[in-house]
Formats: sequence, C-alpha cells, structure tokens
Amino acid sequence: MYITVVGAECAPVAKVGGLGDVIHGLCRELAKQGNQVEVVLPKYDCLHLDSVQDLHLAHEGLRVPFYEQLLPFNVESGYVDGIHCFFIDPQSDHEFFRRGRIYGEVDDPGRFAFFSRAVLEFLLKTDRQPDIIHCHDWQTALVPVLRWEIYEALGLTHPRVCHTLHNLAHQGVAGDYVLRAVGLDPTRLMTSDRLLDWGNPRSVNLLKGAIVYASFVTTVSPRYAWEILHTDQGMGLQATLQSHRHKLLGVINGIDVDAWNPMTDPRIAQTYGPESLPGKARNKWELRRKLGLDDATKPLVSIVSRLARQKGVDLMRHAVHYALGSGCQMVLLGSALEPWIDELFRDLERETDGSADCHLELGYDEELSHQIYAAADILVVPSVYEPCGLSQMIAMRYGVVPVARRVGGLVDSVFDANYSDKAFEEVNGFLFDDLSCEGLESALGRAIRLWFKYPEYFRQLRLNGMQMDNSWSGPAGQYLSIFESIKA
Ligand code: ADP
Repeated sequence: MYITVVGAECAPVAKVGGLGDVIHGLCRELAKQGNQVEVVLPKYDCLHLDSVQDLHLAHEGLRVPFYEQLLPFNVESGYVDGIHCFFIDPQSDHEFFRRGRIYGEVDDPGRFAFFSRAVLEFLLKTDRQPDIIHCHDWQTALVPVLRWEIYEALGLTHPRVCHTLHNLAHQGVAGDYVLRAVGLDPTRLMTSDRLLDWGNPRSVNLLKGAIVYASFVTTVSPRYAWEILHTDQGMGLQATLQSHRHKLLGVINGIDVDAWNPMTDPRIAQTYGPESLPGKARNKWELRRKLGLDDATKPLVSIVSRLARQKGVDLMRHAVHYALGSGCQMVLLGSALEPWIDELFRDLERETDGSADCHLELGYDEELSHQIYAAADILVVPSVYEPCGLSQMIAMRYGVVPVARRVGGLVDSVFDANYSDKAFEEVNGFLFDDLSCEGLESALGRAIRLWFKYPEYFRQLRLNGMQMDNSWSGPAGQYLSIFESIKA
C-alpha cells in the first residue's frame, strides 16, 4: 500500500513530544511490513538536519493561494532513519517555519493551514495518488477538508484520509480567516455539523473538521476512544465524535523496541534481560552513585514525566513524600513548561535537599531517563488523563513495575496485580481510580508492600511486564486493516 503521512513532527528530525516518536515508529514499521511510506513535514529552521541523509531540492516553484497572494514553496527530499521524508519550504516573507521552534507562535493556525494546502498541492502537481493520506492532530486537520472541498475536483481523487487524534486538549481553534486564507468558503463550512467550534460561535475548530471529513478517525488507545466518546475527555467534541463513531477506533501506540532495549542499551551501566534480571542491581548501584543516594536495601520509586497538569503534578508531589515515608528511595526526572509548576517542584527540591534517599532532576535528560528506567523498581504515572502514555510501556520493558491511574491508554497497557481478570502471567502493575492522595496510596502502597514482603512475586510482575509485546508490530497491523477497509 502507498501511504503518505502528514504531521508536524517526526523523530529525530523534528520532535517536541510523543507525536514525533509515534510518526517515526509507525512509519518504520509500516515500511518494514512492505508498504511504500513517505512523510511530509514543514521545513522548520530548527530541524535536526544531522539526522537527514541525502537532503536535496526535489521540486521548485509550486504555489498555493494564501489570502490574495499566490505563495511559492519548494519541496526538499531526504531520508530520516530510512524513512523517505519531504519538507515543505515556503518561499515568502511570512517566514512560516523560520521561527526557531515548532509550535507556540501566534499564527500557528495560519502556518499549519498553509502547510496543509501545500501538501495537497505537492501531491497533485507531482502526480502522487497515495492510497492513504494519514494525518495527525490539529495541525494537519485541514488536509481531509481541503482534499474533499477543493482537491477532489482538481484530480486528487484516489487517496482516502485517515486522521489520528493524539490529544483532544489541542483542537486548533481560530477565527474563520484561516479558512479564507487557504481558499475555503467559511459560510459553507461554519455550520455545527462541520467546522463551527462547539464553544465559540465565531470560531472554526480545525480538529472537528478532520473528524467530519476524514474517511476514518483513530485515536491512540481503545480506552481513550471510549473516554472521548462518553466522558468530558471529548473536551467539547463528544457530540461530533458520537455522530461519526462508526468510523472511530482506538489503536494503542507502540514503543521503539530497538531504542528501548535493556539488552543492548548503550546508555546504561549493565545490559540485562528477563534471563539476567540481577543485572538491574548494577544499574541501581550506578544511579545511586551518580545521584548521591545511599546504597541501601530499599525500593527505588521513580517518575519520568513532563511536569504538566495532565500528568497529575499534585499526585507526583504526594508520591515523593509517600514513597520516602514508606521507606523507599525516590528519583524524579521532569521538565515543566509553566513557571508555576516549575516553582512547585523547585520548592519540593529545596524541601528534600540533602536527603540521601531522594533526587529531583528538573529538566529534560534523555540519557538519565534510560538510566532511571534501568535502575528503578517502580514507576509512578498518576495522570489526570492519558491518551496513551509511553513511559509505562518503556518502564515495563526495563523490568520496572508501573503504578498508574486507571485512565486512557494506561488501562490498555497496565494490568493490576490484584484486581484484574487477566491471567497471572499477564498482570504487570498496579492501578488506582481516584484522583486523590488516598487513591494513589492504595496502589503505590500495594506495590511497596509487595517489594518488601513478597520479592519473588514482585520479580514475577517485572518479568510479566518485560515479556509483553509493546512493539509497533501489532498496532501497525491494525492501522493496515483500517487503511485496507477505506482504500478506494
Ligand atoms: P507525553 O504526554 O509527554 O508524550 P508519554 O508517556 O507518551 O507522555 O511520553 C513521554 C516520553 O518522554 C517518554 O519517552 C519519557 O521517557 C520521556 N520523558 C518525559 N519527560 C522526560 C524528561 N524530563 N527527560 C527525559 N525524557 C523524558
């Protein structure tokens, strides 16, 4: 099958968060399974060009309307980790993608609307007729709208669009100028069954447009699919999702099992696997030495997370106190974007300063994250909501037992040791429901007690997690079945 993937990120060349990893991992697996896959990205000035091979100018002098102008753009081509990538490079003084960062500009809706139209123009003018255009998140949500409203008549008739929702908290809400800018008719599209925002009668909701116009809509776990249909996790789009539920499915994300492999990981002191689990002890010792923690017979509880409201900042802070009060050691690696959250954790850092059992590392550190997964016994994931979540899957691959809130993709990947209908070989962690200190303690307490009192059973939980298949192989197969079902 011929699949064109359109997104705002692809690791490692353009990555802000999980979206970049998902596009990279899924594309590699789809290609491995014999499909023709190409990715189209903006040519940001902050691309990591050292991870692009054979970058060259592939097409020049293409144009798309933007307001009253015809804006020229070029397309460059190169390979990222074997994936064929095209980069849309506008040649105008708007400098859409020359801002030094990927998101966060006041004209984000306009920049990505331009990108969406440029992608379709590129496909049309270079005679590409992929079977599937796979779009991601609000930034590319106008692709299915533009394909149907404008490009079908121009001859881009073969592709069907699948759109993946990674996080309903970001919907791309803007004034209707965004539609006019790229040649769409606001009076036709600003209706409640099309792109009119559910909250603001003057605004357009780009993500809603993708849900309405795409041939199929996926989200990143089965449980999150259920939550966005039936709870306030739909963030205002429940009614739209309900009317299109016949074409909505949750497909859980995978993780890159080559990059996250304790048996080969070059960043950890001692490689190990299910057969050589004692190897973890050396990693624990090394991490303690590196961070100045005591070498004691205590479980090492960890958190590796963005420090954001979604991730449950209050419960993370409570987990630190609770773990220390329960005779554990604690390591937290996290980065906050919002100053008030950063300040909360700086306070906590000051409170625990000098403790031989606690280390908080505030910032982003890829290498340290590998070392924490290799060393830790327990990972706490107390999310308020969690479309999929990768850290719990990575942790399990490293023999760390997750303690997670029973929401979103955490429900589809963590199976409670005591309260699950799964077979014994499939349970791998601890879950709690209530978003409260008592809720967290109900699960973290069970994990800690098990570590102290029943080490053999705790070891079995580690092994169960390590033996789970969280690779992209299964999810890619599910995407292919969806693509097959909508293909023209
Ligand atoms: P998100 O919502 O942030 O995408 P996920 O659980 O899906 O959450 O993915 C988080 C990824 O980012 C994991 O690979 C995790 O190890 C990594 N990560 C999060 N915070 C940090 C940090 N401060 N330093 C290094 N890696 C981090």
